[in-house]
Amino acid sequence: MARYTGADCKLCRREKMKLFLKGAKCDSPKCAIEIRPYPPGEHGRNRPRENEYLLQVREKQRARRVYGVLERQFRNYYAEAARRRGKTGENLLQILECRLDNVVYRAGFAKSRDMARQLVCHGHIIVNGHKVDIPSYQVSHNDIIDVKPKSLELTPFVVARAETGERQVPAWLEVIPEKMRILVHTLPVRAQIDTQVQEQLIVEYYSK
Ligand code: SF4
Repeated sequence: MARYTGADCKLCRREKMKLFLKGAKCDSPKCAIEIRPYPPGEHGRNRPRENEYLLQVREKQRARRVYGVLERQFRNYYAEAARRRGKTGENLLQILECRLDNVVYRAGFAKSRDMARQLVCHGHIIVNGHKVDIPSYQVSHNDIIDVKPKSLELTPFVVARAETGERQVPAWLEVIPEKMRILVHTLPVRAQIDTQVQEQLIVEYYSK
């Protein structure tokens, strides 16, 4: 299972915005983009070139990085989004939001999507009674997501239980903190997806 293993903060600096990839550090003064608000590298502080194509590429990269998806998988997601009925951009965001690692993160069980991905990969998450250790697994409406009983006393879940309510859970999900259970009531629509990604630019990028 391939994934990006480089420095997360460089990605934010490259995109010139906070992508919130590092949990608590992102809200602290140690956030790299607060300290060095320009792209990494020798030419990072040069005046950036701006044109329509660059904006579209950057938006695609930004979405990939927010959700931790590599290029080929992202292209596959786009193809699937284009096949579905409705607006392609919104379908794409829905597919990304329905990844199991994202759902675990949105429910507040992990401080970042990277951490959520690790919790899934390590087999701590159960979907409808079956262990699922694939972060890209797509949840469906009426799915019930639990933490494996043996894992409930592990630190990340103890902390998540104690901090329940600190992060706003989107309306399409419901969290039952005492059971560490997530209910997927429905699939998310655009208005329920809290993201800075401008999906229209991504559609334009792939439509060329
Ligand atoms: Fe991005 Fe978080 Fe690093 Fe700040 S601390 S640059 S928001 S990953």
